[in-house]
Amino acid sequence: MREFKIAEPRTVDELAALLAESQEAAAMMAGGTDLLDLLKSGVATAPLVVDLQKVAGLSGMTAGKDGLRIGATTRIVELAEDAAVARDYPSLKQAALSLATPQLRNVGTVGGNLCQRPRCWYYRDPQVVCRKKGGYNCYAFQGRNKYHGLFGGGSCFIVFPSDLAPALISLGAKATIGSVKGDKVVPLEQFYALPDVDVTRETILEKGQFLKDVRVPAPKAGQKAAYIKLKERGTWDFALVSAAVAGVVKDGVISEITVVMGGVAPVPWRLKKAEDLLRGKPVTEASVRQAADAALQDASPLRENGYKADLVRAALKEAALPLAA
Ligand SMILES: Cc1cc2nc3c(=O)[nH]c(=O)nc-3n(C[C@H](O)[C@H](O)[C@H](O)COP(=O)(O)OP(=O)(O)OC[C@H]3O[C@@H](n4cnc5c(N)ncnc54)[C@H](O)[C@@H]3O)c2cc1C
Repeated sequence: MREFKIAEPRTVDELAALLAESQEAAAMMAGGTDLLDLLKSGVATAPLVVDLQKVAGLSGMTAGKDGLRIGATTRIVELAEDAAVARDYPSLKQAALSLATPQLRNVGTVGGNLCQRPRCWYYRDPQVVCRKKGGYNCYAFQGRNKYHGLFGGGSCFIVFPSDLAPALISLGAKATIGSVKGDKVVPLEQFYALPDVDVTRETILEKGQFLKDVRVPAPKAGQKAAYIKLKERGTWDFALVSAAVAGVVKDGVISEITVVMGGVAPVPWRLKKAEDLLRGKPVTEASVRQAADAALQDASPLRENGYKADLVRAALKEAALPLAA
């Protein structure tokens, strides 16, 4: 493990100034459950680690008539146990409870979960210099790719591992990005960028920027939402495929719907074709199947991950059918 300095800013302004002044990109540490592994293995290096835990105003949640604000360093356990989240955003609670282990949810933060690095075994292997680490090849493309992506790959076939991201995006969440230049608010969906934009990162965060909070709008009248996670094992595990669906059904017909999949692409993946086919129709097994099949026409399975197409169909069915109930 290489040596690094550690800084402990106390305010958001101090944090922003520190990130702006540091010559090389500093590594931000929230709970450290992902970052420390990467620093120890040498996959990540940084001369300066900025501890976010003592920054006033970055943690905690507030729920009101405008919706829910979740500070970046809010612990995942707080989200999972919050009464307002359980009442107004049950799919977010499902996603929070589905992830990792109680110990990791006690230490890991919402911001860290949304900014975590991919679990690709080539990326995580310190001996392998893949495209994401500045090399020339994505070894998953012709190598072992059982856990890799169906959509949006091109130059790198990682999947984005967060459970919270698809659930939050399906609920219309926005991200606040902080920096010395002030705050910038973007839809959380646009917080993520495909490898074509910059293969070395998964978010649009530039040097000097940090995730400050996530805001979820108040639920619409009649809104229903679900998060379904399909895993290889019955115990803790990352999603092979997950589906977050949020929508409104009026007079038996879907009037609004958002479908976001996890585990299938380098970013949380919106199934817009499926949404278009489902909108204006009753929710039935047949309509959901047709919608999934249409969306899967854009999939490019690799040698070992074709099974994920069936999981997309199954996850979408389980997440969408409750809209009709
Ligand atoms: C055994 C194990 C099982 C897991 N299972 C799951 C799972 O099933 N589902 C799932 O979704 N996740 C899973 N995870 C990932 C886990 O959820 C993340 O490690 C955790 O959420 C990261 O939060 P943290 O606060 O510890 O982040 P850190 O480790 O501190 O940071 C993670 C990354 O985010 C960056 N970062 C942190 N905060 C900010 C910020 N505010 N602004 C900008 N960048 C920031 C850091 O620089 C770092 O790159 C698992 C992890 C482990 C170790």
